Amino acid sequence: METIVLLGAPGAGKGTAAARLVSRLGVRHVSSGDLLRGAVKQGTAAGIEADGYMKRGELVPDALIGRIIADLLAAGGPDARYLLDGFPRTVPQAEMLQQVVAAQGGHIRGAVVLDVAEEVLVDRLAGRRVCSKCSAGYHIRTLPPKIADTCDACGAKLVQRSDDNAETVRNRLAVFRRNTEPLIAWYAARKQLARVDGVGGADAVAERVIQALGA
Ligand code: AMP
Repeated sequence: METIVLLGAPGAGKGTAAARLVSRLGVRHVSSGDLLRGAVKQGTAAGIEADGYMKRGELVPDALIGRIIADLLAAGGPDARYLLDGFPRTVPQAEMLQQVVAAQGGHIRGAVVLDVAEEVLVDRLAGRRVCSKCSAGYHIRTLPPKIADTCDACGAKLVQRSDDNAETVRNRLAVFRRNTEPLIAWYAARKQLARVDGVGGADAVAERVIQALGA
């Protein structure tokens, strides 16, 4: 099993890049945020536990998201290749991931961080719209759908994520600085990190990620 880790602040473009990397790299896109939003929607025990943290823009407990990811990776079999988007977000989660991957006889191919200045992140999150059905991402100004409020891919309605409001965004960025910046340093210390400029067109950013991975 092979795993690539995509890191970056909220709004850095992880999901947008991941959507383009799936076919280019032959990986399965695993978005921890999408998994959690799905659990909340379905009203599972994990979803009920996660809901309050997500509404406040805080991280859900490591054990909760760790279990979801570990189950998913274990179910994929030895030949599966994953692109993890949004997990890990803390050093303990990264340690957990190392263990899960090692237990499957797999390896981590590398971690790539998308660098984006904070004022750009705030603008991207304020204008972000997502498909209510397939989670495809848009931006009202820089990546609008062909038909207003309608997903190009599946035709469902676009919505604003409930945690993309100004106050929750501020908290999510603070949480990123507090918890995920140290994780980036952790991967760098292990020589597993590549940094990529996350500003520019989605295709260009995805191409930079591919170059950074030496793929
Ligand atoms: P995202 O879609 O990646 O922005 O995640 C949305 C929300 O889900 C975050 O603000 C957290 O509340 C929660 N979440 C997603 N991934 C993780 C993770 N790896 N660890 C803890 N909480 C997470």
